[in-house]
Amino acid sequence: MFLLLADMITIPDLIRKKRDGGQLSDDEIKAFIQAVKEKTIQDSQTGAMLMAIWLNGMVSAEIKALTREMMSSGEVMEWPDEWKNFMVDKHSTGGVGDKVSLVLAPALAACGCKVPMISGRGLAHTGGTLDKLESIPGFKVEQSREQILEILDSVGCCIVGQTETLVPADRVLYALRDITSTVDSLPLVTGSIISKKGAESLSALVLDVKFGRAAICKDLESATELAQMLVEAGNGLGIRTAAVLSGMNSTIGRCVGNSVEVIESLETLKGNGPDDLMELVTTQGGLLLVMTGLVSDLSEGRKQISEAVVGGAALSKFQAMMEAQGVNSDTAQRLCSTNADYYSVLRKAKHQLELKALADGIVLEIDGLVLAQVLHRLGAGRSKAGEPVNHSVGAVLLVSIGQRVTKGVPWLRLHYEDLALTPDQRNHLESALTVGADKKIQTQQKCTLVEKILPQKYQ
Ligand code: URA
Repeated sequence: MFLLLADMITIPDLIRKKRDGGQLSDDEIKAFIQAVKEKTIQDSQTGAMLMAIWLNGMVSAEIKALTREMMSSGEVMEWPDEWKNFMVDKHSTGGVGDKVSLVLAPALAACGCKVPMISGRGLAHTGGTLDKLESIPGFKVEQSREQILEILDSVGCCIVGQTETLVPADRVLYALRDITSTVDSLPLVTGSIISKKGAESLSALVLDVKFGRAAICKDLESATELAQMLVEAGNGLGIRTAAVLSGMNSTIGRCVGNSVEVIESLETLKGNGPDDLMELVTTQGGLLLVMTGLVSDLSEGRKQISEAVVGGAALSKFQAMMEAQGVNSDTAQRLCSTNADYYSVLRKAKHQLELKALADGIVLEIDGLVLAQVLHRLGAGRSKAGEPVNHSVGAVLLVSIGQRVTKGVPWLRLHYEDLALTPDQRNHLESALTVGADKKIQTQQKCTLVEKILPQKYQ
């Protein structure tokens, strides 16, 4: 039997300790993660430990040790000394139409930060930043460490996939969590997210923790609990960390789906962004500028990010980033030109269909989860890691919450391929729009998604 520590604790001993509600020491967590990394532990034992953690949770000292050991299971990036105070990144717990990264990374680079953004792919109903970018012909999300350094030197930001050598323990644990119903454990989620950010050697990190119908956390209370854990774990690794708690009931912006979200991001970078997207970009970007010391308060940070987006500096960075990541310069230029014909570059789905409002009234709700679920089934998302996605499938909202509509007015344009909408899916989609008469909503035209910022000193 595999013996772990000097005092002969074995893997079954560690599992029993956690199973019985004990607190694992730093050395015991180190031994567990090392065994995962070196494959000296059996999958059944790892699964049992994951379930013990799911059932009994972890105290903050355990989460700190878990995060640190996971981070150290692979390569930890190193940066030139002169960049060290300005290395920043963000993470979102997942939304519908969440294109914040595409606008925020170049805006931060335009404000003097270095952004080695390591993003993920979509799974379940939420979209992934890498899938969105891959709808641009030629865009390469796989970049070596040397290439990342070069792009950060010349452009200031890159958006790339996780390399093989970054946090290998997370790959193993994530795959086993997926098949042992232990994905939704806050300590395990925290270790997984923050260890990868720690391996980027960041100076500051902002987390967008979403709550609502279309988010993993269904209410503000559970999102706050997760946010506090993430902030504590980030700070525990020496990264200045803040969290933004934002509502996720509808969609962010008006476009959902890979290509259409790229188009909306480019329009935002040309100064025509929707208010809700701009609110998320300026709040998260503003916080990072405060945490790096580039500005003294959040309102100045928001202003600088907004100016970088509206004034075109962020668009130039996005264009340079596309070229540095493999997009040919003519394509990048066409996408970034004023009045661009986006579909001369991006592939358009074969069919478009407009859904019409079934009654007169005020738009009270648009259910982002329903929208995302139907698009997922039409091919915009994947059900298993590794499956391809159809970049052209998507939807564009033609109305906003609070807007008065009349029966028969189109409210959604669907882009789809040969896999057509079934009658059930059409009914489901139609149920996403709630129209009625509500005086409150008529006076609440201004959208604010950000509910709270942690730590409170940034509020
Ligand atoms: N994202 C991650 O990387 N890990 C999790 O556990 C959840 C979201």
